Amino acid sequence: MAEEAHSLAIDQVVQKALDDAHVSESDLSAVAVTVGPGLSLCLRVGVHKARTIAKAFGLPIVGVHHMEAHALVSRLVNKGLDFPFLALLISGGHNLLILAHNLGDYVQLGTTVDDAIGEAYDKSARWLGLDIRKGGGPALEELALEGDPNAIKFRVPMRQHKDCNFSYAGLKTQVRLAIESRNLRCTDGIPISSATAEDRQLRADIAASFQRVAVLHLEERCQRAVEWALKMKPSINNFVVSGGVASNQYVRTRLNYIAEKNGLQLVSPPPSLCTDNGVMIAWTGIEHFVAGRFDDPPAADEPDDMQYDLRPRWPLGEEYSEGRSVSR
Ligand code: ATP
Ligand code: FE
Repeated sequence: MAEEAHSLAIDQVVQKALDDAHVSESDLSAVAVTVGPGLSLCLRVGVHKARTIAKAFGLPIVGVHHMEAHALVSRLVNKGLDFPFLALLISGGHNLLILAHNLGDYVQLGTTVDDAIGEAYDKSARWLGLDIRKGGGPALEELALEGDPNAIKFRVPMRQHKDCNFSYAGLKTQVRLAIESRNLRCTDGIPISSATAEDRQLRADIAASFQRVAVLHLEERCQRAVEWALKMKPSINNFVVSGGVASNQYVRTRLNYIAEKNGLQLVSPPPSLCTDNGVMIAWTGIEHFVAGRFDDPPAADEPDDMQYDLRPRWPLGEEYSEGRSVSR
């Protein structure tokens, strides 16, 4: 179904992007396209379209890493943001702490051992019976404003692990149990709009308590990552926070506090560039293109059913392990 949705949308989406920008394919210098990570079936739709345009107009291709794009779009909106910098990428499928040494040169300080924070927001919102048509994260953030963040004592994940990894599966389960044990009729299909005032307050308390602990987990891991990063690269001035969850105002406020406490500047793109968008892919394409990293235009006789070089699983940089050489 995801592949079908991509196939149905791609021609119109590309045409709209060109129309909105008042350009045609012949005005382009190159085509940037996501090659991973993600579902191969969906990646293939994008790569096929990109190569079709590139073949027809003799354009070079830049293959883009989706998570690198989430990080680098901050350099589009903040032209003074130079390497190296520390980045936290929080989205539906990833929780990454990255030390960005240079373009294409990243060290992964932390990742999730199970779910990403966006997944925890989405599932919690669904279980709370919220209207998730505009996304579970925004809906939960809004409801949390009405709740008491200390009402329910959820456990902060992974405190005994002195690293920079994340875990959200346990917190997700805690939310589900909190909902079930209070007999809230919050299963799919019973929306919050039909809740009594008391029922709504309980749900808001759960939302606020979840959000406090979910973000406290981010804060704790980020504080450690900042310490690691500054030890490796004392010249770091900036802390980038991006990915869909970075649109969240509470997340931004709390992480700004961590940045300030450590003498760093928090850089976070506007919400429209934090959640998935084409601009971040185009911008990352420009960064690599300017650095001379791109593929030649496809051959004129490239077959339509060619096996493309897709990267469904593609780590962003090498993993950090304590004690390794860090000089660059
Ligand atoms: P990935 O980038 O890991 O492949 P994705 O591309 O699906 O995943 P994004 O579009 O970057 O994810 O982000 C979507 C996620 O961000 C969803 O889980 C959504 O609920 C979450 N999100 C968006 N806005 C908010 C918000 N205001 N508060 C919390 N979460 C939010
Ligand atoms: Fe994304």
